[in-house]
Amino acid sequence: MLVPLKNPFAITHPETAYRSDGLSITLNLSGSRAYTKVSYPVKYGIISRLETREMILEFNLNHEIRNARSKTRHWLHPSEWLKRTVGNDWIYYSSGGYAGVYEAIGEYYLPNFTYPTNSLLGGRPFEEPEVAKTCQNWPELLATVPDNRPDMPARVAEWLGQVKRITKADLENKAQTLFEICGARTTVLPPDARHSDYNVIPLTIADGCLYKCRFCKVKNKKPFTPRSPEDIQRQIRDLAHLYGKDLVNYNALFLGEHDALNAPADLIVSTARQSYDRFGFARSYMKHPRLYLFGSVDSLLDADPHLFDSLNALPFDTFINIGLESFDPATLEQLGKPVTARKVGLAFDKMQSINQACARIEMTGNFVMDDHLPPDHIRAVLDLVRHRITHALPKGSVYLSPLAFAKPSREVLYDFYRLKTVSRLPMFLYIIQRL
Ligand code: SF4
Repeated sequence: MLVPLKNPFAITHPETAYRSDGLSITLNLSGSRAYTKVSYPVKYGIISRLETREMILEFNLNHEIRNARSKTRHWLHPSEWLKRTVGNDWIYYSSGGYAGVYEAIGEYYLPNFTYPTNSLLGGRPFEEPEVAKTCQNWPELLATVPDNRPDMPARVAEWLGQVKRITKADLENKAQTLFEICGARTTVLPPDARHSDYNVIPLTIADGCLYKCRFCKVKNKKPFTPRSPEDIQRQIRDLAHLYGKDLVNYNALFLGEHDALNAPADLIVSTARQSYDRFGFARSYMKHPRLYLFGSVDSLLDADPHLFDSLNALPFDTFINIGLESFDPATLEQLGKPVTARKVGLAFDKMQSINQACARIEMTGNFVMDDHLPPDHIRAVLDLVRHRITHALPKGSVYLSPLAFAKPSREVLYDFYRLKTVSRLPMFLYIIQRL
């Protein structure tokens, strides 16, 4: 849903349009200003749109392609589309066909990826010729659009020239630059980042993680090490430069990598504040700034008592996702996760206390799921999400994360729905997504 731009940004970026003979171009359309959960396609932020008889391509304020879909009868569904991430991945958003998508993931559209992940739902849209062709051939399709029509406004012609000049290699190089600024690609984003459609700016506040669990497919070999304040300032400067004019379309920050909560409290708070200022989140086109980070059982239990009050006072809604994995000793042992079930229980209790005390913080937790875990695992999760809590709570989502990649399992899906039915906390599947 896009409407003509009516906001202060229009003063410097007026909407300009061209329509003629099967070609329609509109610059600086205003999409939704808030991330919403609705069952029809919504585009976020300020974008420019080019539409021909065969396709619709949408571009960000840096003239880089952001969304695409074919209009031919070979496209899977008219309300489905492709989105290109800042990490230069294409994601296919599926609409219907998968009963219960909203119940399962808390979103109406199911993201499908080109890389292996742990999703139990969805098909293989990238094997569809029309989807593959759109991802691969959009520059060639774009090249056929004439930019020298005499009746085309100069601004539109100039814009068309700019979008045509950006090649697939340029986009890949820019993604590599992003990874270099942060020190590595973000291999996993917190499940809570769905509240910003995963449109986050990643900033590495600390490398590595504490545990190096045996089961984990996203870990790296780096020992846990916080970055220096100087390095964080460098990242903020370089990220602002990289996101460029499109920065106005962002209002969400991800503090990486896998256990930012274990960084010193003052570093976390000062990084969030500096980012908010330098990235201009107060002036962002998108409303409701959000901050995302991962934490661990030990980083949560050892956290500075004042940290959560300080985070609660920031101009962000903050989501901290804790890897709990299991409350069953045998399962923790099998996973190679070096924490005790007792500590997992204490961390779970602390999460509930923070959720009650801090209106602007949501602590969420992850548990794993798999066909081959000890039988007490599900019972132990149930102990926490059902019996340890006296009444249903709207806050403090629990995410269940299938261990197996590219292996949808009916039994695991059945366990998920069984747990969700009785859980007193909101419960969703965690689909691992990178940036
Ligand atoms: S689950 Fe978390 S703590 Fe364990 S290895 Fe993976 S990233 Fe590290």
